[in-house]
Amino acid sequence: MVDTVPFRPLRRRRMAILVAALAAVTAMACWGAYRWAEAEARAALTLNGDQRLGLYASSIRNAVGRYDYLPFLVARDHEVLDLLDAPSDQRRDAVNRRLETANAAAGSAALYVVDRKGLALASSNWADPAQSFVGHTYDFRPYFRQAVETGSGRYFGIGVTTGLPGYFLSHAVRQGEALTGVAVVKIDLETVQRDWAAGGERVLVTDENGIVFLSSHAEWKYRALRPLPDAVTARLSQTRQYDRSDLPPLGLRDGPLMENGARLVSLPISGPEANRRAFLMQELALPEFGWTIRFLSDLEPVKAQAAGAAILTAMGILLLAAAAALGWQRRQTLRLQREARVTLERRVEERTAELVTANRILRDAQEELVQAGKLAALGQMSAALAHEINQPLAAIRTFVASTRLLAERGETAMVRDNLAMIGDLAERMALLSGHLKEFARKGPARVEAVPVARAMDRALALLASRLREEEVQVDRSIPPDARVRGDAVRLEQVFVNLLRNAADAMEGSGDRRLTLTATRNAAPNGDNWEIRIRDTGTGIAEAHQFQLFDPFFTTKEVGQGLGLGLSLSYGIVRDFGGTLRAENNPEGGACFVVQLPEAQ
Ligand code: ADP
Repeated sequence: MVDTVPFRPLRRRRMAILVAALAAVTAMACWGAYRWAEAEARAALTLNGDQRLGLYASSIRNAVGRYDYLPFLVARDHEVLDLLDAPSDQRRDAVNRRLETANAAAGSAALYVVDRKGLALASSNWADPAQSFVGHTYDFRPYFRQAVETGSGRYFGIGVTTGLPGYFLSHAVRQGEALTGVAVVKIDLETVQRDWAAGGERVLVTDENGIVFLSSHAEWKYRALRPLPDAVTARLSQTRQYDRSDLPPLGLRDGPLMENGARLVSLPISGPEANRRAFLMQELALPEFGWTIRFLSDLEPVKAQAAGAAILTAMGILLLAAAAALGWQRRQTLRLQREARVTLERRVEERTAELVTANRILRDAQEELVQAGKLAALGQMSAALAHEINQPLAAIRTFVASTRLLAERGETAMVRDNLAMIGDLAERMALLSGHLKEFARKGPARVEAVPVARAMDRALALLASRLREEEVQVDRSIPPDARVRGDAVRLEQVFVNLLRNAADAMEGSGDRRLTLTATRNAAPNGDNWEIRIRDTGTGIAEAHQFQLFDPFFTTKEVGQGLGLGLSLSYGIVRDFGGTLRAENNPEGGACFVVQLPEAQ
């Protein structure tokens, strides 16, 4: 905990830098994506605009080109020539009807003939008094002047008589070299325009002065693209081209010019300035008319598309960042887990080492206790042992005295017998002292094959005098092939403990009997031997049943028992992979059962 404190601000700062960097990268990428998508969408718009412009141009050219021949034909008509040569009512009527028929057949707006002064002599619309051009003078109209000066003319204007806009094509009528009049066809462009309006696109056509006269949107018509110079305004009112004095500017504002000739502009949409909208404006000149077609593409979808791309990019980057963060976190978790595992493994190793040490110390302590137990047992047996040794000693002393007498008498045979007896006694003493030495020997446990009968013999030998004295009857049935895995001396010690306890328990009994048996048990993980030491003593009180094997548990008087015998025996048997348990016999007395694996 303590050592993480100085790192925390550092990590927080690193985090802040990371977040800032991510934000900067995202912003830059979004900006890039926005610009890229915008350019792409604009390029697409421009391409579309170019195609549309081409279509609009051809629709205008078609609409006009269809009537190109008409004034030329009219200018060559004999009746027209005659009328202009010498006007008369009769001739005018004839030409009127002729023009009416031709106009109807061609589908033009009007077809008429003016004389050299600009006065209309005959017209296709002669029959309609309100509309008829007949009798009106058109010498101020540019198409008339152009025809007079150059032979033909073309002109767009609002009809001064009808008030309807139209495109006028004129051709000079000549008698020989002399000009006698001008033939004119008026073409209605409103139908073309109506088709445009239906298309839903934004298109407008301006004349050489920048005045919109054709448009898909009616509100743009007869308005100047840009404010008009005074000279132009003056000329327009003279030619009465648009038959009105005010041509209010459209309010177009120029933006930057794009690389493909398109221009970014803004236009107020239906009225207030605030409602300006950005458009991409493309132009196509129609030099034969002196007009320019302009196509406006709405930039809102471009913006939306670019914004969409930017948002997608941001989302992509954030997703990537989230994935990276998740991956990092996962790696971090794995690293922490690995570290924790390593620490755990180290701790387990340390604890294991500690346990091994503790176990060794315990084992050493147990060895010491075993030794102490043995010495204690010896101490307790000392009286009996002294008796055991004194008896043969006294016998030897007696034998030696009697042998001396027999030797003096020369009874050699008797002497030999006596000496043999003495040898036997000495032999018995040597055996006992050997057992004692062996029993007291201090040494680590060995694992060997121990014949149960022999270990029991030795234990009995150590206790022989006591058992004899207390008239304990010993019944033993231990097969000679009973061999268990263990350490001979230790097992002998176990038996001494158990036999001595039995003798102690039987001290007050009338019937003192020890039954020693060994039986083989078959077990799946190897056979074992069950050695039973049964007595006819007090038995084990129920209250003591669970304490018997506790160290220092004893029911004997001070100096009589240390309470270590059973606990040490238990430890020894367990060390050899066996068990030690106590039971009470149904007929009285206790039975201690040692179970040990059979030696191979
Ligand atoms: P100690 O013999 O020094 O008391 P042990 O550990 O050998 O110590 O025995 C513990 C106690 O177990 C004895 O004090 C005794 O009460 C009881 N005990 C042991 N063996 C017998 C037995 N064969 N019959 C009855 N009680 C026994």
